[in-house]
Amino acid sequence: MDHDEDQRSEPSVGANCTEAVHVLYHFLDGELTPERRLLIEYHLDACHHCLEAFEFELELRELIKERCREQVPDDLRHRIKNLLASEHAAGTKPGGGTFPTT
Ligand SMILES: [Zn+2]
Repeated sequence: MDHDEDQRSEPSVGANCTEAVHVLYHFLDGELTPERRLLIEYHLDACHHCLEAFEFELELRELIKERCREQVPDDLRHRIKNLLASEHAAGTKPGGGTFPTT
């Protein structure tokens, strides 16, 4: 039994779609090496599917950035601070149990 290989018209330019989408976020964060960035840019140039995803993500980020600059609710800021604090406290206790009193 042989099955067909799924050879669709994927552009063979450095990165494939899966990889492109996967590193998209790192790309946007500027965490990629120049060579890697070039590969993704190259792929986006050839692949409209990924380009759309990329642009969507870009717009989303701009939107979030603007929203954040406008106002961060004190309530939310407080909750995040508490969350980080409690997580930090939980991580620093090696034993995790109650302190033995003798
Ligand atoms: Zn693609």
